[in-house]
Amino acid sequence: MAHLISSKSWLDNNKVDLNAKINQSVLPHALLLKGYALAGQDELAVWLANKLLCTDKSEFDACGRCKSCLLLASKSHPDIQIIDNGDKTIGVDLVRQASQFFQKTAQLGQNKVVIIKSSEYMTEAAANALLKTLEEPTQNSFLLLTCNDADLLLPTIISRCSQIQIQPPVGQELADLVDDKSILHDFSNINQFAELTDDFTKQAYLEFNQQLILWLQNFADYSQLMTLFNNNNQSLRWLVDCFHQLIRMQSGWADALSSHPAKLLQDKYTTEQLWQCLHLAMQANKQIKLLTQANKNFTIEALLVDIEQQLQK
Ligand SMILES: [Zn+2]
Repeated sequence: MAHLISSKSWLDNNKVDLNAKINQSVLPHALLLKGYALAGQDELAVWLANKLLCTDKSEFDACGRCKSCLLLASKSHPDIQIIDNGDKTIGVDLVRQASQFFQKTAQLGQNKVVIIKSSEYMTEAAANALLKTLEEPTQNSFLLLTCNDADLLLPTIISRCSQIQIQPPVGQELADLVDDKSILHDFSNINQFAELTDDFTKQAYLEFNQQLILWLQNFADYSQLMTLFNNNNQSLRWLVDCFHQLIRMQSGWADALSSHPAKLLQDKYTTEQLWQCLHLAMQANKQIKLLTQANKNFTIEALLVDIEQQLQK
């Protein structure tokens, strides 16, 4: 079961800022809410959408009692559309539907809101279709895009949105938020927010590392590892992390990293070999984001072959 940090209190500053903009009637038509995986960008978008649709403007949060709030609670509000495709690409049809939705008058006579979650997964055609909507905003329409990785969005989309960066705590404040500290180490940082704070992601992280370390020990069949790469789009980051931490262990930080799953391998390879693998993994991590699924699989398989060659020298 996924366990999310229930009150993401660091979102409060963003909420205060958005509330002020609403009160001054200067909230931009298009907002891009950015942050690391699970940092709270989706929650903030939903909070803002509820607030924009609530008819009682006297409270800081949506009131939860008006007709609009009740429709939202029963997921039958006619003036909101949420596009949520998970890790899958968002095609042009969904974006066109959202654009048409904006052309209609709000049924409750207030605002209309479209949320596109994980908007970095829009195909290029979808992003181009969205550009038209961004260029010709309709009255009382608000477009809320959320993303984990803004590098994947077209620059033309980014430049037409007002950007909001979600900043969860770092250092000791981050550590204080982590209930189960078993995978926390001295080099843990905000990049790892998802696996540090979400049980479901942590299980995926541990499972991936287990398979990865098995494979790095004997280079037997990597089909199970490939399945995990396909199931979780954070896997390449975890592969990069593994080589990074192994290099640190060899540079005198073994104690600080004693909780890292890769510690079993700490003396198996030379620092030079690990550097080469880190480099290969980072390169693949950079390239892969823009590829289709078939090409992703090909790139990862090629990467594993390269790593194996490097480590079996
Ligand atoms: Zn309300």
